[in-house]
Amino acid sequence: MALFDKICIIGYGLIGSSLGRAILENGLANKLICADNSQEVCDKVLELGIADEATIILEDAVQEADIVVLAVPVGACGEVAARISRFLKEGAVVTDTGSVKASVLEAVSRHIPDHCVFVPAHPIAGTENSGPESGFSGLFPGRWCILTPGPDTPIRAVEKVKHLWEACGCTIEIMDIKHHDLVLGITSHLPHLIAYTIVGTATDLEEDIKDEVIKFSAGGFRDFTRIAASDPVMWRDVFINNKEAVLEVLQRFTEDLTELQKAIRRGNGDFLFHRFTETRDIRRAIVDAHQADYRSASGLRSDVPQVQGPDKDSCSES
Ligand code: NAP
Repeated sequence: MALFDKICIIGYGLIGSSLGRAILENGLANKLICADNSQEVCDKVLELGIADEATIILEDAVQEADIVVLAVPVGACGEVAARISRFLKEGAVVTDTGSVKASVLEAVSRHIPDHCVFVPAHPIAGTENSGPESGFSGLFPGRWCILTPGPDTPIRAVEKVKHLWEACGCTIEIMDIKHHDLVLGITSHLPHLIAYTIVGTATDLEEDIKDEVIKFSAGGFRDFTRIAASDPVMWRDVFINNKEAVLEVLQRFTEDLTELQKAIRRGNGDFLFHRFTETRDIRRAIVDAHQADYRSASGLRSDVPQVQGPDKDSCSES
């Protein structure tokens, strides 16, 4: 028997379509509805057969749904919640997939009617690709999904969202919402910001140097370019909506970078050696905790917290 009668996913891009595929493959719903603001996306979804119905009319899509998943960019969650609010069925659970949680909670919860519950969620899984074609059901097995319910969130609603993600292969972690934004600020948002900066700097170089940057990119730069190819809308929204935490970790990072700069200028090899030994130990601890693939030479793509699985370094998240 299906876990849910009707699930509606709003935003059928990488995350929404991956979740949709996992729901269909695992028979988790009697009916799965795709809602997206793009008719082109809806047409593609029907062509791929990855939802039972697809529509751009969000108000129709959510009617009678037991669970409504907002899988749109973080900055669009509030506006979508406002649109669907009056059409939610009695007792419906609304959840999201946003990479930032505190600002989404604030933007969405004010539109959730008293007879419904909002349970914020964040699957720690992704790639640098977007759109319904880029999704795959295998995105979630072995990954964490963080839920950030408040103290007053009804446990039954939390359990429903937990069961949905567990059935897709995720392991659930319940976390304080501010703590989530700080932790992800360090493990995901800062690495993306660094990648965008490095690739941006290379883009500004003189033409002749730029050619060589591309030619000899295998020396570490290539991994940064993969991350810096991530969706600009999604990442714009992440930084704007996690401003406080990102600025805090960025300040710490800048101070540490200045220390390294000083050590290089002064020829302080001992300082550099000790710092690089410490960081190597962290990498080994991550591998020992089955959070990364020891075979991978790519450090940056290992920033995906995972539970288990053979190809730990193959995705970038958010
Ligand atoms: P995506 O591939 O760009 O998909 C987002 C979809 O939502 C697009 O089809 C987009 O349509 C649609 N959309 C945008 N605004 C909408 C609106 N107002 N109403 C209805 N549909 C709308 O993005 P994604 O990577 O799946 O990310 C979705 C969410 O998951 C984001 O909140 C992100 O922070 C989170 N997340 C992402 C990752 C990752 O690695 N990508 C990982 C974990 C969580 P248009 O393109 O036509 O605007």
